[in-house]
Amino acid sequence: MSTSNPSPTPEVLTELRRAGAADVKPEKALIFELSREGRRAYSLPFCDVPADDDLESLIPGALLRKQPASLPEVYEVDVIRHYTELSRRNFGVDNGFYPLGSCTMKYNPKINEDAARLSGFARIHPYQPEESLQGAFELLYTLQNDLAALTGMDFVTLQPAAGAHGEWTGLMMIRAYHESRGETRTKVIVPDSSHGTNPASATTAGLDTITIKSNERGFVDLDALRAAVGPDTAALMLTNPSTLGLFEEQIEEIAAIVHEAGGLLYYDGANSNAIMGITRPGDMGFDVVHLNLHKTMSTPHGGGGPGAGPVGVKQHLIPFLPKPVVSKRQDGSYFFDYERPQSIGRVKSYYGNFGILVRAYTYIRTYGPEGLRRVSECAVLNANYMMARLSEAYEIPYPGVCKHEFVMSGRGLKQYGVRTLDVAKRLLDFGYHPPTIYFPLNVEECIMIEPTETESKETLDAFIDTMIRIAKEAQDTPELVLNAPYTTVVRRLDETLAARKPVLNCSCR
Ligand SMILES: *Cc1c(COP(=O)(O)O)cnc(C)c1O
Repeated sequence: MSTSNPSPTPEVLTELRRAGAADVKPEKALIFELSREGRRAYSLPFCDVPADDDLESLIPGALLRKQPASLPEVYEVDVIRHYTELSRRNFGVDNGFYPLGSCTMKYNPKINEDAARLSGFARIHPYQPEESLQGAFELLYTLQNDLAALTGMDFVTLQPAAGAHGEWTGLMMIRAYHESRGETRTKVIVPDSSHGTNPASATTAGLDTITIKSNERGFVDLDALRAAVGPDTAALMLTNPSTLGLFEEQIEEIAAIVHEAGGLLYYDGANSNAIMGITRPGDMGFDVVHLNLHKTMSTPHGGGGPGAGPVGVKQHLIPFLPKPVVSKRQDGSYFFDYERPQSIGRVKSYYGNFGILVRAYTYIRTYGPEGLRRVSECAVLNANYMMARLSEAYEIPYPGVCKHEFVMSGRGLKQYGVRTLDVAKRLLDFGYHPPTIYFPLNVEECIMIEPTETESKETLDAFIDTMIRIAKEAQDTPELVLNAPYTTVVRRLDETLAARKPVLNCSCR
């Protein structure tokens, strides 16, 4: 990975600002504004087939276009330059370091993209005859088994399209399980260190959430948990490692308390980058677990997807799995099993985001069990290295050993009038995507960093040096940090206004 991030010196920036130059950025014209009537980006040979009459007979009149489509009319070079320029303004893990905590923005090996693009995978149709889909079935079946082995569960469904979707699927199964036993259990216990999607998924699944506070060390407070469980407990949802980057030390006690009350245990395994090949939710007593393949098992996932959030379950929940289920016959052939009377039904059109499953399969096959363990070991090592070095300049609210990510607090900079948001904005000037900020909510001026296993020590050091430098700038020249960024296409945005009153401009004709 490159470490050559542009770093304008403070002197240069001050000079730029004085000259007002940093504020003058060429506005990018919309492709519609480049449009001139009659320009074309293509040249096709003259069409000598009389088509018009046929068209009328082929397409029902009501569906025929009354006016020409309102499209920009530009030359080919204009199209290419316009979109290439826009793509350069985008930031991705292929451009630079992207330490967004809780999101696992790691480098995704390009061989996985190649595998997903193999025409045998990319061009199959979900309604092809079953006998012509056997290779795809085998991939799904093997991946199910691999993920079951990795999580210590008995069966895995690959249907859910995201982590949150997996949570909802798991909770619907838990609901169906309790109902099948004639029990009314509607409460889901969620520690405050869990991911924000957990309570949202519980609500969407028609269940009520009880939030319990963490203790002063950031772990689940066992007394609070004991007080919260009861005959109405449907489940505990535990994010582990938690959003503080901590592994719950008393996880077996937690499991025992919930099981004794008759509740089931849900493991949010979106952060499995920290534990692969080292420990398994199934062995800790959990009944349901979801993984985020788009975080842990490659697949670039910026901008909201697509994703895959497979859900693993223990034996007693197998009847409730979404259908169809990929199964294997005695003769070794595969099929979709729809005969599942207790199933919660289909949760996704067709059979999940297949291309992502191909990437995950490739990822697992290229690393192997030892390699996956090494991924987690390096992710944890990198995070601890960064935490130790950054503690020189930032407060670490939960010291100790972290897992794949950690949280810091920028509250020490408040005395200079600088906040975490300003630090994040200043990082942009050095070519970094900022870490997650103001999440989790229980840490003041929170900065949450996840380096991942794919970065070199040089990259980590360069980022750490920059963070330390910004802390010094906050002290010496706070206005420099407060007015950042200087080197980006747009400067500070009114983020509330941008979210509440978007000005969408897509057609000028
Ligand atoms: C990312 C994440 C989720 C949600 O996953 P999506 O695919 O974004 O729906 C849930 N839990 C944890 C711990 C996560 O990090």
